[in-house]
Amino acid sequence: MADYDYDVLVIGAGPGGYVAAIRAAQLGLKVACAEGRATLGGTCLNVGCIPSKALLHGSELFEDAAGGTMATYGIKTGPVELDLAAMLAQKDESVKGLTGGIEFLFRKNKVTWLKGMAVFKDAHSVEVAGETVSAKNVVIATGSSVTPLPGVEVDNDKGVIVDSTGALALAKVPQHMVVIGGGVIGLELGSVWRRLGAKVTVVEFLDQLLPGMDGDVRKEAAKIFKKQGMELKLSTKVTAAKVKGGKATLTLEPAAGPSTSSGEARSEVLEADCVLVAIGRRPNTAGLGLDQIGLELNARGQIETDHEFATKVPGVWAIGDVIPGPMLAHKAEDEGIAVAENIAGLTGIVNHDVIPGVVYTMPEIAGVGLTEEAARERGKIKVGKFPMLANSRAKTNHEPDGFVKVIADAETDRVLGVWCIASVAGTMIAQAAQAMEFGATSEDIAYTCHAHPTHSEAIKEAAMAVTGKPIHT
Ligand code: FAD
Ligand code: NAD
Repeated sequence: MADYDYDVLVIGAGPGGYVAAIRAAQLGLKVACAEGRATLGGTCLNVGCIPSKALLHGSELFEDAAGGTMATYGIKTGPVELDLAAMLAQKDESVKGLTGGIEFLFRKNKVTWLKGMAVFKDAHSVEVAGETVSAKNVVIATGSSVTPLPGVEVDNDKGVIVDSTGALALAKVPQHMVVIGGGVIGLELGSVWRRLGAKVTVVEFLDQLLPGMDGDVRKEAAKIFKKQGMELKLSTKVTAAKVKGGKATLTLEPAAGPSTSSGEARSEVLEADCVLVAIGRRPNTAGLGLDQIGLELNARGQIETDHEFATKVPGVWAIGDVIPGPMLAHKAEDEGIAVAENIAGLTGIVNHDVIPGVVYTMPEIAGVGLTEEAARERGKIKVGKFPMLANSRAKTNHEPDGFVKVIADAETDRVLGVWCIASVAGTMIAQAAQAMEFGATSEDIAYTCHAHPTHSEAIKEAAMAVTGKPIHT
């Protein structure tokens, strides 16, 4: 060990990297973490999960006050005004507190922060800010960045065509925001600005929102977002964008192509004072010097690993958004713990079949495991559904939208997937993930006592519906 400066050098201090660094230090290893950004916490804490949730929460409170929900409960507010600067400052405060918290945890666990971008010299040495450091193990946790859309150039400073980072810091509420991409970022940040007063149009290439989610969930989500006032242009693509005088003019075409069978052109022009490009994210590998260590990328630009998170190059490991799998902070964190444990000689495992996903709109949209479509392809299944309208707590809170769906194997009754649309679906899905991790059957969930009145009772009732016996429908 004496031959190396560190036992473990982690590149990137996002939820994957900082968690790996802390866990490795907790296991007694000498650890450094290189981070090119001025603050720790990666995309998630700086420009992702945390600031977006701060704005989702703030905008929800604004909509409750301005939109009459509070009045329904007898709370008179008088005229409601938006102080956008204060809302953005509140978001910045959350980011500062949490990124500072990681700095504190690094000091507490004696993780050395190497400030700067890391470049491989060889498999065991990396240059950071002009200095070369060596490590027995190097963990690549460099995360991901926004996928650009050719012809639609993002300029966050001008604030007309922005990516998610720009959309977290708009100086004023747009009159008309066009969101390109009806995925998680488009719907979350589109919801923020709609609640604050913008007209929002979502342009989605596919014929449904939220790719990867259960079919019923995708359909129901579209209905709910339309009801909330979002305009949805599905099966549509943006082919050009021009910016002039603080406005963007977008050319839209059907995803299938510009002309009908009779050869008639079908393009459309949309004007917007803000365009959010949210068509996905791609792994960060450029400039890392992977060619120096002979590490190749797969067709999607990701680094492949085995189930221990080891790459093909001995001593080099990879986790988080830069490897295959859903680009989610909790997936990166769990991989961070597992890789540190594997490096320390323990057995670190992540069950990639049970990773919950949550869209933090109102209502929230959450799922874990297989979609009904994927489960059906694998074999015979039973499905139980329960509407939130029939859940006493949701009804009392005036939150009628959504449902819970439990998908179980027809023979073994083992739960294969759970999907929820409900105001607190993100919290509800945790029990489904835990049940699936323990190999639960739908009967196990149906016979577990759930506190009343809670939204979670809808999970129990949906599990009861798998065998046809819900009480409240
Ligand atoms: P990252 O968080 O991207 O961190 C990688 C770090 O590596 C970065 O700080 C980068 O500066 C650094 N880096 C890169 N290259 C180098 C180098 N060569 N040298 C030194 N440092 C380097 N996920 C959720 O689960 N829940 C959410 O609610 C959620 N909301 C999101 C909202 C938005 C707007 C966005 C954009 C993403 C959101 N995500 C969410 C996704 C989540 O942020 C990512 O999945 C997660 O951050 C991935 O973690 P990571 O550690 O792999 O990479
Ligand atoms: P996404 O993959 O969720 O959605 C992108 C959408 O854009 C898709 O629906 C896709 O069909 C569409 N699209 C692609 N090209 C298009 C085009 N040319 N025109 C119109 N539509 C097009 O990606 P995202 O919303 O950018 O989010 C990126 C990643 O960040 C996701 O993987 C997500 O997991 C993560 N994220 C997670 C959360 C969360 O967990 N709550 C929040 C934000 C982001």
